[in-house]
Amino acid sequence: MKYLKLAVFANVEGFLTYSYSGEEKGITGCRVSVPLGKKTATGVVISCMDRPDIPAEKVKEINRVLDIYPVLTAEMIKLGLWVSSYYLCAPGIVFSTMLAPLYRVASDGILKLTGAVGKFDGAAGEIINYLKAKPGGWAKLKDVNRHLKVRGLKSAIAALAKAGVIAISEKEKTKGIKNKREKPASMPEEAAADIVLNAEQAGAVMQISGAISEGKHKTFLLFGATGSGKTEVYIRTVKKALSAGLDCIVLVPEIFLTPQTVSRFSSVFRENVAIYHSGLKPSERMHEWERIKNGGAHVVVGTRSAVFAPLKKLGLIIVDEEFDTSYKQENDPRYSARDTAVYRASINSAVAVVGSATPSVESFYNAQSGKYTMLRLHDRVMGRPMPNIHVVDLKTDLNKSRDLFFSDEFIRQMREAVEAGEQAILFINRRGYSGYNYCPECGHIEKCVNCDIPLVYHSHTGSLKCHYCGFEKKTVLICPACGKPVFYKGAGTQRVEDVVSKFFPDKKIERVDIDTMDDRERYLDVYTRLKNREIDILVGTQMVAKGFDFPGVTFVGVVAIDAVLNLPDFRSEERVFQLLMQVAGRAGRGDKPGRVVIQTFNPENPAIADVKAYRTEEFLTAQLKLRKEAGYPPFKKMVQVIIQDVSFETAVDNAMRALETVKQAVKISKIRSIDILGPSEAPLSRLRNKYRQSIILRSTERQALNIIAAELKKLGRFMDISVTVDPVNTL
Ligand code: ADP
Ligand code: ZN
Repeated sequence: MKYLKLAVFANVEGFLTYSYSGEEKGITGCRVSVPLGKKTATGVVISCMDRPDIPAEKVKEINRVLDIYPVLTAEMIKLGLWVSSYYLCAPGIVFSTMLAPLYRVASDGILKLTGAVGKFDGAAGEIINYLKAKPGGWAKLKDVNRHLKVRGLKSAIAALAKAGVIAISEKEKTKGIKNKREKPASMPEEAAADIVLNAEQAGAVMQISGAISEGKHKTFLLFGATGSGKTEVYIRTVKKALSAGLDCIVLVPEIFLTPQTVSRFSSVFRENVAIYHSGLKPSERMHEWERIKNGGAHVVVGTRSAVFAPLKKLGLIIVDEEFDTSYKQENDPRYSARDTAVYRASINSAVAVVGSATPSVESFYNAQSGKYTMLRLHDRVMGRPMPNIHVVDLKTDLNKSRDLFFSDEFIRQMREAVEAGEQAILFINRRGYSGYNYCPECGHIEKCVNCDIPLVYHSHTGSLKCHYCGFEKKTVLICPACGKPVFYKGAGTQRVEDVVSKFFPDKKIERVDIDTMDDRERYLDVYTRLKNREIDILVGTQMVAKGFDFPGVTFVGVVAIDAVLNLPDFRSEERVFQLLMQVAGRAGRGDKPGRVVIQTFNPENPAIADVKAYRTEEFLTAQLKLRKEAGYPPFKKMVQVIIQDVSFETAVDNAMRALETVKQAVKISKIRSIDILGPSEAPLSRLRNKYRQSIILRSTERQALNIIAAELKKLGRFMDISVTVDPVNTL
């Protein structure tokens, strides 16, 4: 008899031990089905032991092994264990996240009983009975959905699949998808590169390649202006790693928004690339996962979760736009894909490259302190100038007579560009029509019923929407509190689009935000038309800040940014700086120089003044100084604890209880240096119908934080509490 230490895919804290009478060889990394309470669950084998580590009489035997070959390698197990301990998340949740591509329910799938069936009731029981009654024990998911009118069908199916009781497979095989995905018809292939690297690029490639050849772990910060040729450096170094027989991961913030980057990788590495992201259909995702696992692709380009790609011989991991907050997962496991990438490189003696035009304060610090090696690309390629940035002070320059949100200077520069047949991109940080609403009589603001957030007016639907939870209701014209007319002020993308079309009636205007860009095809359509110069003016949210690299764009206008600057968060200035640099970087990428106009009420704020003067190092250095004085990361490690409840009183009570737990842990473990901030109402004080209380813990000792946070996690049995290690914001 052997004993298996399992990470069980259920809400259990640590590992569970089960007995097993089969072969020891090859069992580690396989999934097994096990009894858990009255139910069946799936777990993955972390290790195999000769003796149980719990009293023998408590050990139950597994039901069966679900895999013929391990789905996790020893390296992936090590990675998962690190994520689990660093981000304080149950190993079962971490490993089920790593293996998520194997568990998605496809709507065109087939459900099939796989054998051992325990007792199930409710929806799960109905599904099993239904399948049992079918010849061969299988049915189309579509039919299951049609015939079984029970609650919780979807989650029951997922639970049964997870428990290994049913298998979900695809109706049609996924052949042919590959080509369509890698080179969508509407996506023009980028010209194959006969590019001659400039001196700084060549130097960067040489250093990274050298490190790859050495086979020692090293992390580089590739700090290069927008359009300085970073992607070209990535491509050359991936080539280098491949020729050394090594695998590569390239992380990008959002595939959907970076078609150009992705297509450059696919056109160079062709079928050797797997494109891997959450937008894939479940069938495609599983197909890609297996292709990677079987050595059918040696380069994985993907979003956050691609950091867990099942490659075998990792030599290089690249994280593009490393500051991007989408690398941080917002639910358990709350990992940062960037930091996980660096860790994964370290356990593989591999090279990590984190790249950006605006490094995060943390990465900049790591480069300065020598933990990372800094590689600088100072200039744009081909001697192209950076766009000239003009800042309009709205306190003095707004042409008030028009009651518009465009200054004369903004319109003048924009007009010059578009009348000359060039293209313009306008950025505004809010979708919808008006920025805010209020009653001028009594001050009432229409807020979401679920969140403490003002609703935003959307002209196309004639409704008010909550940008957090999606709540929507008909527009309110009369103040419900006092009966006077409600005012809608400020600008969102829809209103900017409206007004711009009045200024430029004969220009082709398009809007890009999540209201219009509900799928990838639409985005590619706008992308192609922008490229073909069929769009003169593009109005959008952050979505316009990332992927567009078009020579025709010579004007970039930032209509408003102050709302982001005013967020009560230690990172809001850093955010604004990064956003502005990124969006400004869209201008002047061709032969014609670009120009940028930023409108703001805070022209003297360094996040704006330093963008204007391209003082990135100075900005980051000053931020570091502020962070040091105030005790924020990277000088102190930070953990944010959020306690939520539908009742405000319960949220407060629970937060006090959490505070007691913190104090106890501090006392028992004799922790000396710790800051405890709160509990207090979180800046976003109510979201999705729950009141939110926040406690922030800071310390120079990560170990101290971990001890306390582990105690707090245990409160999860009694309350809705989340623990975020290295939070990207504290809202
Ligand atoms: P970044 O990723 O830093 O924004 P890219 O790698 O996308 O920059 O380069 C910007 C543009 O310049 C791309 O169209 C790329 O093909 C081109 N490019 C890159 N390096 C060179 C070079 N050395 N000479 C000429 N063009 C280059
Ligand atoms: Zn809401």
